[in-house]
Amino acid sequence: MTDCIFCKMVSGELTPDIVYQNESVLAFQDINPKAPVHALVIPKQHIETLNELSDSALAGNLFTCAQQVARLQGLSETGYRVVINCGADGGQEVYHLHLHVLGGRQLTWPPG
Ligand code: 5GP
Ligand code: ZN
Repeated sequence: MTDCIFCKMVSGELTPDIVYQNESVLAFQDINPKAPVHALVIPKQHIETLNELSDSALAGNLFTCAQQVARLQGLSETGYRVVINCGADGGQEVYHLHLHVLGGRQLTWPPG
């Protein structure tokens, strides 16, 4: 996807602040953090939304990466939240699947 900003991060055309990566996933700092720690975990292949995620191994890899990001960012003990916004009502703005990893403060519930 040539016009997808997250694909450009995978290709190296854009250079995010990378937290972790392996052969199938990439994690980087959110440019507009909503908490003291706010990282995004994306598949390296372009998948628009959670609706199109059918590869269960990749799904597992995304969650393992979120867990790893939380550990690297020092959130494992204090707690954190993993969020996937899907589609218009879900508030998705970038249509390349991503998990938000948020922490470093008490998060409120329910979300808006
Ligand atoms: P969504 O609303 O789609 O679930 O979340 C998109 C996220 O991507 C937002 O938290 C937003 O701050 C982040 N984002 C948008 N553009 C960029 C960018 O160019 N670089 C980084 N690092 N994050 C971005
Ligand atoms: Zn993409």
